[in-house]
Amino acid sequence: MTLERREPLRRKTPLKHGGSQLKRTPIRKISKARAKLQRQRAAVVAQIATSKKFCPWPDCRRLGTQPHEIWTRARASDIEHALLCPDNIVMMCDEHYNFPHLYEDVAKPLGLIRNSWEGCPCGFPNLPPPPNVIGRIERLP
Ligand SMILES: [Zn+2]
Ligand SMILES: [Zn+2]
Repeated sequence: MTLERREPLRRKTPLKHGGSQLKRTPIRKISKARAKLQRQRAAVVAQIATSKKFCPWPDCRRLGTQPHEIWTRARASDIEHALLCPDNIVMMCDEHYNFPHLYEDVAKPLGLIRNSWEGCPCGFPNLPPPPNVIGRIERLP
């Protein structure tokens, strides 16, 4: 292969003005269902922020700013319920919002963390897992 010096390529037809010449349908950034869930979640959190104002961590009286799910979204069989149920959400301060996850031994007796099988604080049960994970759940201590 030999390298030749060539004139750089030049555009002959100018680009048209007025927007992209690519005609594509933009991809929706989030699904409609997810957008709806986010709106509902924002409304629930806003409501809770007015009723449960203060961080429930021991000896903390700071304003709760971060929503925390007691039946966590990672453990809940019904994530939508976990995210929207007012009984499942407390507002925690900027310093402690991660503490229930870090210090479960403290958080559990305070009712700030629940095991997946305990379900939501409102009484909503943990639903049976789909068949492909039953074996895994049964092996848990
Ligand atoms: Zn706090
Ligand atoms: Zn609930």
